[in-house]
Amino acid sequence: MSKDYDVVIIGCGPAGLTAALYCGRARLKTVVIEKGNLGGAIIDADWVENWPGVEQGISGADLAGNMLSQVMLYEVDVASAIEVKGIELIEGDRRRVLTTGETYLARVVIIGGGTRPKKLNIPGEEQFVHQGISYCVMCDGAPFAGKEIAILGGGDNGVTGALYMARLGCKIHLIEALPEMTASKVLQEKLNETPGAQVRCSTVAEGIDFDGKTKTLKLRDTGSNESSKLSVEGVFVLVGREPETEYLRGTIILDETGFIKVTNRMETNIPGIFAAGDIRSGSVMQSISAAGDGATAAITASRYINARSW
Ligand SMILES: Cc1cc2nc3c(=O)[nH]c(=O)nc-3n(C[C@H](O)[C@H](O)[C@H](O)COP(=O)(O)OP(=O)(O)OC[C@H]3O[C@@H](n4cnc5c(N)ncnc54)[C@H](O)[C@@H]3O)c2cc1C
Repeated sequence: MSKDYDVVIIGCGPAGLTAALYCGRARLKTVVIEKGNLGGAIIDADWVENWPGVEQGISGADLAGNMLSQVMLYEVDVASAIEVKGIELIEGDRRRVLTTGETYLARVVIIGGGTRPKKLNIPGEEQFVHQGISYCVMCDGAPFAGKEIAILGGGDNGVTGALYMARLGCKIHLIEALPEMTASKVLQEKLNETPGAQVRCSTVAEGIDFDGKTKTLKLRDTGSNESSKLSVEGVFVLVGREPETEYLRGTIILDETGFIKVTNRMETNIPGIFAAGDIRSGSVMQSISAAGDGATAAITASRYINARSW
């Protein structure tokens, strides 16, 4: 037996939660389905300094918790520890959402499934995951307090991760493949002022060895083409994120990198299916933009429902 909703929202991050807030306030019967952490990726942010209206900053976990509490003021269901496996189009303009739990029927679906950390796919990476190679400083950083570590990636994630590990007293080698870091200038300035942090740009990691205690990164300078080795106790791969859209292939039009193509009203190619947040093509991948997309998707979805006789 399927559960019947006006709106099924996939993902409980800033996009999904903001969509849920707007749908709840529009008195639409709404469920948010989440396979992992309620709150989404922002939970892994140590300190968020760019959420408007919170001058002093806020931890990612608190920001996500506040969003969830606000949604809970309305009649919105949350189905946790359930993964969406597919969306089917069925008669009468309904959508059927297939999950690892129950099946849901919906008038509209809002996909806010976000992204996951990108892997480098270099030799040794897969083999030594959870033995000192990680994709999240907040999750796995504590055992490396005071140790020498490498952070791969000089974007916002990498530099934020480096600053977090520096506060744990680590000596940090930040490795960036491009000639310059791409993190926001404010973050770069903070890193430059951090004792014990060294930055190497134009350098790619080509492999990781592990002798049971020390990890050795095989590096190559892309300018001189010279190879070198760097021995550290921990390696954090923070090189960007990729969309969680495998289950949508064949149903929703994706761009060449797998992100969902949407209009500026968050409509996908299928009427009644919307996408919002980091998962959509062209997203700037910030909490505030994800929340904005969630609001846009919910308002468009609400108009879509109201314009039809069901
Ligand atoms: C370490 C770190 C620090 C950051 N710092 C900042 C910052 O300071 N400021 C800022 O603005 N942004 C920051 N960000 C970015 C911010 O977290 C994201 O832009 C934001 O979380 C995107 O929201 P979203 O709702 O689109 O996706 P997400 O937050 O990724 O949420 C998507 C959710 O959908 C779930 N999901 C995916 N597929 C399925 C499925 N098939 N079934 C069920 N559930 C599914 C996922 O488990 C996830 O919980 C940071 C991110 C990271 C990782």
